[in-house]
Amino acid sequence: MEFDSGRFRQVMGRFATGVTVVTTLEGGRPAGITVNALSSVSLQPPLVMVALDRRRFITPMVRALGRYAVNVLGEGQQALSDCFAHADVTPGRKDFCGAAWHPGSDGLPLLDGAIATLECTVVETFSAGDHDLFIGRVDTLDDGGRDAEAIGPLLYFRRRYLRIERGADAPVKGKPED
Ligand SMILES: Cc1cc2nc3c(=O)[nH]c(=O)nc-3n(C[C@H](O)[C@H](O)[C@H](O)COP(=O)(O)OP(=O)(O)OC[C@H]3O[C@@H](n4cnc5c(N)ncnc54)[C@H](O)[C@@H]3O)c2cc1C
Repeated sequence: MEFDSGRFRQVMGRFATGVTVVTTLEGGRPAGITVNALSSVSLQPPLVMVALDRRRFITPMVRALGRYAVNVLGEGQQALSDCFAHADVTPGRKDFCGAAWHPGSDGLPLLDGAIATLECTVVETFSAGDHDLFIGRVDTLDDGGRDAEAIGPLLYFRRRYLRIERGADAPVKGKPED
């Protein structure tokens, strides 16, 4: 291997992603962490995957509860992304970043203002290198309705945040998924 992990991160940083906060419960209290390693895995059944470093404080909590929620952040939620990535801010992550939230229909903590949320039950866990891959069956989901339609996503690219300037968009000409 002729590159180090810094170079790997630099190159993977060319792949633009959204930003999510993965939340769960420990002892009935909400906990959350910033995650961009999210993927849609299967349509039937609906499955997603989040990859959590095993050193993350939340990884054993997700393993223990067997459930997590994905909160897709909107362009105005950069401060929450930083806080849930353990920035030195007050209120801090141990106080759930002072975020406004509500319990979803399955009881998981959902962030107010997220542009999409999914509540998931872990159906499989894979260990891959230094991360655990949690495959979650999507039990409930919400796209924020009409209020969220006008809100763009918070993006992460080259290890910086980006917002979309909606100057142009284009239809996809490739074969859409069924
Ligand atoms: C845009 C973005 C995307 C990211 N995507 C991912 C991703 O996909 N996957 C991923 O794994 N990481 C991702 N991260 C990194 C992750 O969000 C941070 O590294 C993480 O929040 C740091 O927290 P930590 O607890 O793991 O480690 P530290 O903050 O270094 O904490 C060290 C130790 O302190 C203890 N600790 C800290 N907080 C608590 C607490 N509230 N309760 C109990 N014990 C605690 C734990 O023992 C923990 O291991 C991303 C970060 C950003 C900014």
